[in-house]
Amino acid sequence: MALSSVLAGKADHLFQNDDDAPTHSYWEQKKVEQSVLQNYERLKNIPNNKTQIKLYRSKHINYLKKGLENLSCGYECLDASRPWICFWILHSLELLNEPIPEEVCSKVAGFLDKCQDKHRGGFGGGPSQMPHLAPTYAAVCALCILGRFWAKAYEVVDRPKLAEFLISRRTEEGSFTMHQDGEVDIRGAYCAIVAARLTNVFTREMFHKTADWIAKCQSYEGGFSGLPGLEAHGGYTFCGYAALALLGQEQKANTKKLLKWTVNRQMKFEGGFQGRTNKLVDGCYSFWQGALLPIIHNILQMYGDEDLSQENWMFNQKALEEYILVNCQSYSGGLLDKPGKSRDYYHTCYCLSGLSIAEHFIVDDVRESKEIVGGKKNVLQPLHPVYNICFDSAEEALEHFNRLPNPS
Ligand SMILES: [Zn+2]
Repeated sequence: MALSSVLAGKADHLFQNDDDAPTHSYWEQKKVEQSVLQNYERLKNIPNNKTQIKLYRSKHINYLKKGLENLSCGYECLDASRPWICFWILHSLELLNEPIPEEVCSKVAGFLDKCQDKHRGGFGGGPSQMPHLAPTYAAVCALCILGRFWAKAYEVVDRPKLAEFLISRRTEEGSFTMHQDGEVDIRGAYCAIVAARLTNVFTREMFHKTADWIAKCQSYEGGFSGLPGLEAHGGYTFCGYAALALLGQEQKANTKKLLKWTVNRQMKFEGGFQGRTNKLVDGCYSFWQGALLPIIHNILQMYGDEDLSQENWMFNQKALEEYILVNCQSYSGGLLDKPGKSRDYYHTCYCLSGLSIAEHFIVDDVRESKEIVGGKKNVLQPLHPVYNICFDSAEEALEHFNRLPNPS
């Protein structure tokens, strides 16, 4: 592990090698390694240093709660991703095990209702905006989180209209366009499948041929791209493989090749993940890449792979915990991409999501308790790696919606 190696003064072999031909990206990489090294070295003079690594829980909670208060005012009124802001904040709060009071639930659910298109179904990026698959995913997940604290939130989703909207986004070949006259990409398929599964409007016809189309997006490297024939990328890879898992058609992908690509995205020195080959570490890929390992693990387990560990995911979990806790926390609350960058809700959500994955090992619903970097006070709630909401939220939402008849 990088931190242990730094503390022992033996980290040199972990740095990137310039192969005697340093390039621009080599120097960029060097800069990041130096800033991470400084952060790790700072711990050297602290007694019991490893137990002193703290998650700034209450600072993160304060930062997140302020974001919810500002939801319907300020410059954010102008942007097209407000259901995303709701989701990033609510999911971060549930990971931090912070209950959401009823009046906040009702306010946020009311706001999301305004983003729902009453005629076409689905959710837009803000009130009266065109429905789009990405904010539809975010709104459905946010409402599933809220529903655990205030069951009326589930009722916001107009399920028959949602089913109509999802079907309207389908193309002949089984891919999905993000919005009317919009672009096709792998995120569309993932967002549609999650929204359909969580709210029980899923049908085989809705996703006929979708798995075949997704499988075409797996590149020669092993990861997935946004469209067939492009470069493999962490976010798209998560969407593609999680979607195949939700369709029960993961055998259409080459899982071993995917595994090899994914584990090689964890940075040797920093401990976090990069999004693409030869790119810099970024805290948000702690989730986009990190979540692939539990999904792959559970699938290989299902196929009876006897060489699988029963204690760890197939990446260095401690190194990821250390990267996030030591390098990605803002002192005033919120988390970030890498040292020197600013905090935002997106990175707060995906850094915490990645941290939760690294802290827990859950196979076949059996949760193994494991030693956590900095001790038990840093523990987060476990999450469902395919949906990216906490297990409890996913279970309760599925239980609620599966009791209702499928409108499709
Ligand atoms: Zn990022």
